[in-house]
Amino acid sequence: MSAPIITASAGATDVGARRRLNEDAFLAAAPLFIVADGMGGHDAGELASATVIEHFSRLIGAETLSIGEVRDALASARSAVGTLGHHGAAGAGTTLSGVAIATVDGLGYWLVLNIGDSRTYQFADGQLEQITVDHSYVQELIDEGEITPEQAKTDSRRNIITRAIGAGSVGDADYWLFPAERGDRMLVCSDGLTTELTDARIAEVLASEPDPQRAADILTAEAVRAGGRDNVTVVIVDALTVASVRGVHVQADEADDIDDTRPRAALDGGMR
Ligand code: MG
Repeated sequence: MSAPIITASAGATDVGARRRLNEDAFLAAAPLFIVADGMGGHDAGELASATVIEHFSRLIGAETLSIGEVRDALASARSAVGTLGHHGAAGAGTTLSGVAIATVDGLGYWLVLNIGDSRTYQFADGQLEQITVDHSYVQELIDEGEITPEQAKTDSRRNIITRAIGAGSVGDADYWLFPAERGDRMLVCSDGLTTELTDARIAEVLASEPDPQRAADILTAEAVRAGGRDNVTVVIVDALTVASVRGVHVQADEADDIDDTRPRAALDGGMR
């Protein structure tokens, strides 16, 4: 049996124009494509994001991941970040967002996870859709109707996150599980991308640059040129073939009659 989704992926990261350290880290290797945005003084953020990526890198090479495997990796990463305080990195914390290759009844599914304010988007049929919901103070203000998403991009409180791995947070990750379609392009990024570029510009680049590495490089460079107020990290994952409802891999030019509905539901406590 082969992996239910065959992917091409790439990542890019840049310290940006204002920061001294790049505290972001990423992993782009099947079956896992994730971004971690570290926080905390005295190199703590860099240590925290690197620690989480190191723990999840143990999952590279599996064909698929279950939500249980992802949750176990998250738990072990969280306990490792918790011990960083004993090495002079008190307050170390990090976000984590991304997507794993999963399977349901032999079909290819995306398993998206998020904790904090890094983001995972799906670009499909020319539309960019944010899958994850930020764990942030400004997201709460948006939910309450106090500010608009556009205002949130420049709000002075935009860096306050309400859940993290470490940094004193015990908040859990959110998960989404939905069928993959051939041609899907998943984007995982730190907030250094989305606070500098509009969704419209991000969608334009994703639509016009088929090579995932070039698309990641262009988005990262544009975010730095647009201000680069934060570290910028971009991971792009393309679904080249997906195990379809016929139980076979479908090439990009053979799948026009595949069922187009894509049910999507956030996994609540019942799935945990
Ligand atoms: Mg950031």
